[in-house]
Amino acid sequence: MQKINYPLDDQLPSLGQSIEIVPGVKWIRMPLPFALDHINLWLIKDNFEGRLGWTIVDCGVANQLTQDAWELVFQNELEKLPVVRIIVTHMHPDHIGLADWLTKKWSAPLWMTMTDYVLAKWLCDPRGVEVGSVAGGGGAADHFSKHGLVNEDDLEKIRARANYFSNMVPTVPQRFRRIMDQEELQIGANVWKVLVGYGHAPEHACLWSSNINTLISGDMVLPRISTNVSVFDSEPDADPLGLYLDSLSHLKKLPSNALVLPSHGKPFNGLHERIDQLHEHHQDRLNEVLEACGRAPQSARDLIPILFKRSLDLHQLTFAMGEAIAHLNYLWRDGRLKREACSDGVLRFSC
Ligand SMILES: [Zn+2]
Repeated sequence: MQKINYPLDDQLPSLGQSIEIVPGVKWIRMPLPFALDHINLWLIKDNFEGRLGWTIVDCGVANQLTQDAWELVFQNELEKLPVVRIIVTHMHPDHIGLADWLTKKWSAPLWMTMTDYVLAKWLCDPRGVEVGSVAGGGGAADHFSKHGLVNEDDLEKIRARANYFSNMVPTVPQRFRRIMDQEELQIGANVWKVLVGYGHAPEHACLWSSNINTLISGDMVLPRISTNVSVFDSEPDADPLGLYLDSLSHLKKLPSNALVLPSHGKPFNGLHERIDQLHEHHQDRLNEVLEACGRAPQSARDLIPILFKRSLDLHQLTFAMGEAIAHLNYLWRDGRLKREACSDGVLRFSC
């Protein structure tokens, strides 16, 4: 099995510049205002509807810093050609944030999956904020308090973050072109097959090109951090972890020596080894959850210090809560845990 390695070692593209990683595919990197401080975006040389130019894969968050960085990319990296299409892997703010600006600036269409388009459209509307954000709003606060997060200070801060999504994604394009699982997209010289995966976002698109043995993995497979897999208040009984692990198993059908272009971290080889590590990581967490629930009934909040050994700020705590619920729901949905609503209104899980 191909071991994990980084073919470019420590090379990183500097702001506004690219590294051509395979012929016709350029790697660019944009800053992010989080602990996870960057996102990788891709430019693919294209000949789209008779126009030579570039297809962009993913957009960065909507802020001035990212827009300025894009302007530099346009000056430095387009070889005097236009942007002809924008593909977005999924609806998270660092991926779709500037899609509306980019599509308008270049009169280029947005291509993405339907579920993610519709959800982004919904969440960027101020009336939609209660729907699905793990990070903020009254719905998120109710969701977490049912799972044992009862600190009133924390809940107040979570309620106050109702505009979390729309701050980073103020607008989503009015129209889009739907892409679907297994669809083959001709992008320039190569065919890229859409591989839809679940559990991280509702309908996340990876792009696989067998011609050049390259996978644009989005957030589905990252080299160092594990992909966030969370239960949101809009679908409290969801089993995103089951969906995610299943999607990983599908990606393992690709060649072990494929080059993986992830949204965070560095391009790497060793897809199968990384998928095995991720399966193992979640299996270990599931075992810890089972063990704790065998000792005494546990809420998701009770499990946070067991699953996350470092201290967490509120933002990280909301993600950790979503992850803890995902592990509980996985075991509950497959019958290994029982769930009970206790007299204090908190959901607790036991064996
Ligand atoms: Zn994501």
